[in-house]
Amino acid sequence: MTNKSALITGITGQDGAYLSKLLLEKGYKVHGILARRSTDTLWRLREVGVENDVHLIDGDLTDLSSMIRAMEMSKAEEVYNLGAQSFVGSSWSQPILTAQVDGVGALNVIESVRIANPAAKFYQASTSEMFGLIQAERQDETTPFYPRSPYGAAKLMAHWMTVNYRESFGLHASSGILFNHESPLRGIEFVTRKVTHAVASIKLGKSRELRLGNIDAKRDWGFAGDYVEAMWLMTQQDVADDYVVATGITTTVREMCEIAFEHVGLNMADHLVIDPKFFRPAEVDVLLGNPAKAQANLGWTPKTSLKELIVMMVEADLRRLSA
Ligand code: GDP
Repeated sequence: MTNKSALITGITGQDGAYLSKLLLEKGYKVHGILARRSTDTLWRLREVGVENDVHLIDGDLTDLSSMIRAMEMSKAEEVYNLGAQSFVGSSWSQPILTAQVDGVGALNVIESVRIANPAAKFYQASTSEMFGLIQAERQDETTPFYPRSPYGAAKLMAHWMTVNYRESFGLHASSGILFNHESPLRGIEFVTRKVTHAVASIKLGKSRELRLGNIDAKRDWGFAGDYVEAMWLMTQQDVADDYVVATGITTTVREMCEIAFEHVGLNMADHLVIDPKFFRPAEVDVLLGNPAKAQANLGWTPKTSLKELIVMMVEADLRRLSA
């Protein structure tokens, strides 16, 4: 057990909830930045049972002074920047906000570490969306980036800022290039959760159809609960570095969807409707990560298969919709 202090931006998100739980189990004092909103933002922390165990600090990563204050208040030894506008689809309708939060916001967090707490170990939530129009069949840490959305471009800025602050100021700053990672806590706008929620709803007779866009897209999907362990492992290393975190298996949206329908004994063809509304201005056709470096240096391997993940998500949605 440790008695270290950690600070998480994006603590109310999917990864924030799982990482909080992991760090609390290890004995950390966990602080999180909370941007006050009128809607209930704490349901994920409630669902993993840590709502009353984390220390929430008012602030926002677009507000540098609030980040410096949070850094001073928490005296964090580890800082995890998970806060972002994380939905690729919305990044075309809100490109400036996405750049401000995901790009400049990340820079604010790194700057606040440099100014207020330079000995802290910093983790940046980078993303496979930075590979976009892929330049290699399997993407690893050496694969050139080619983002295909305002989200990917903004995240690429934050990624290079992380590398730059490591090289310029000697900060212990690591960037985790995480491929898609899902869970029952995933937002409903993402395709896996949209599918599992719809399948549960159709199974319970509450709806009849599921409307999707490009079902030929391929993603390397893992379980968020496994992926937060990789984040923590990065901050435990003597030397900060960049790591691809992925399963090494890619699957089409169609096949992922079939797993969900099959699990509840329904025929996908009876319910799936292709709707042009959900196609994107530019698509990332396929992502396939090579996690060999994370396996070798961090000893990290994914534990949950896509089938186990989708079944877990369908079951959670069946429970919620029956409650
Ligand atoms: P992303 O990889 O971060 O964009 O994660 P998403 O879960 O939002 O999308 C994964 C893939 O599913 C993308 O290639 C989407 O174009 C595709 N997709 C197909 N239909 C849908 C849909 O209705 N909603 C979403 N979110 N994605 C869809």
